[in-house]
Amino acid sequence: MTTNGDPVGIPSGRQTKIIATLGPAVESAAAVSALVGAGMDVARLNFSHGDHDGHRRFADWVRAAALEHGRPVAILQDIQGPKLRVGRFPGGAVELPTGAEVLLVLGDGRAAPGTIAIDYPYLLDDVEPGEPVLLADGLIRLEVLKRLPDGLLSRVIEGGVLGDHKGVAFPDTSLQVPAVTDKDRTDLAFGRELGVDYVAASFVRSADDIGRVVELIEPGTPVIAKIELAAALANLDEILVAAQGALVARGDLGVQLPLQRVPLIQQDILRRANRSGIISITATEMLESMTESPRPTRAEVTDVASAIIGGTDAVMLSAETAVGRYPVRAVEMMDAICREVESGLRESEGVIDIAFLESRPNFASATAKAAVDTAANLKLKTIAAFTESGNTALLLSKYRPHGRIIAFSPEEVTRRRMALMWGVTPIAAERRDSTDLMIALAEKYLERSGVCEEGEGVVVVAGIPPNQQASTNLMKLHVVGDRRRRRR
Ligand code: PGA
Ligand code: MN
Repeated sequence: MTTNGDPVGIPSGRQTKIIATLGPAVESAAAVSALVGAGMDVARLNFSHGDHDGHRRFADWVRAAALEHGRPVAILQDIQGPKLRVGRFPGGAVELPTGAEVLLVLGDGRAAPGTIAIDYPYLLDDVEPGEPVLLADGLIRLEVLKRLPDGLLSRVIEGGVLGDHKGVAFPDTSLQVPAVTDKDRTDLAFGRELGVDYVAASFVRSADDIGRVVELIEPGTPVIAKIELAAALANLDEILVAAQGALVARGDLGVQLPLQRVPLIQQDILRRANRSGIISITATEMLESMTESPRPTRAEVTDVASAIIGGTDAVMLSAETAVGRYPVRAVEMMDAICREVESGLRESEGVIDIAFLESRPNFASATAKAAVDTAANLKLKTIAAFTESGNTALLLSKYRPHGRIIAFSPEEVTRRRMALMWGVTPIAAERRDSTDLMIALAEKYLERSGVCEEGEGVVVVAGIPPNQQASTNLMKLHVVGDRRRRRR
């Protein structure tokens, strides 16, 4: 967005980015606008729920709210992936008492009494006696006793009430599920139509699974790998090469693996994603109690802080904003926690120090590293970058500067994608034909917006020659106001 060709928009002062899931709790233009006002940087459309018309309405409201607030907001399409679910029960639920026996049968519809339908065609081939079956997010646990001709005879180890269409997991079984379901295909085609900015792939196991999603999306759309299966952890290195982001999906991870393993796995995924130079996201139950309560628990606040200290680029809200009672307050709370923790970290010099990204031994990465080091050495608060694809902004972000990254781009989709990048403020700017004109444009913006004072030093990075998609290869130290003074 530009007025008279001048870039507008100002940095929020928060570095960690906030993703909020849209759902019935925020089903109006006004509610979505309030989320943006409270600090939502990325809107997540969760394709495990809702229909296409509903998602289209949300997308329209997000675009309108971004315009209204003068700030790019990205849309993240989260596809369901091969999540297995149980069928239906008479009355909508069935009681499974501990110690009872139950037969798991093939099908997606209503099951006869004493049976549970599961929509997995290889149920009888893949699952072995002795293997555990987890239902309803791990609340209910079964063990397979015997393979019978018509189903898997199982015993209820930990009982409970099982509702229609609840999730089912086989944590110790290797399943032949497809990486992308028919529903995912339809949803991804719809996502292309909507022009989503990111795609999150659920239940991926390998780099190949990412590749199958890439084939179905608009070329260039970054894919975020949701790490929620043990297989994904085992293949994490190759997944981090294939994907442009990794999301710590603590909800399903906590079903697939013992809960107590989740914290260190989170640390490990964040560290490795950051070292790979891709976006890292921490998700699920971050402020869970706010679905019902106007204030989070101390433990939740500390959890958000831990994720930030652990180096996450973004924190995500799910039920809190999608179905919760206090969606806007949840985003405000997230915003407040991020700001406080970040400023404390800056003061204590606790900012993460990332060494040169070995996986990116190129000019852009070396220039970004030099810019961040220079800003630190000279205590400069602003790094201004010119970027077509957003790659330079991402690299600067990954080297974790203390100050802000002002990223100028003529590409609207790039500006929206940069909304997810830690510490980055995307600013609209038309292309300029020379390095001098680019610096003049940056200077004008920095002064007029009040981001910098006259006489303040900034680090400028760009690619020259301009407008040729040249890789970032130039770092210039510049004093704001210098050009004007010299002209006088
Ligand atoms: P979901 O993924 O919200 O789509 O289940 C995140 C998670 O499992 O934590
Ligand atoms: Mn999940």
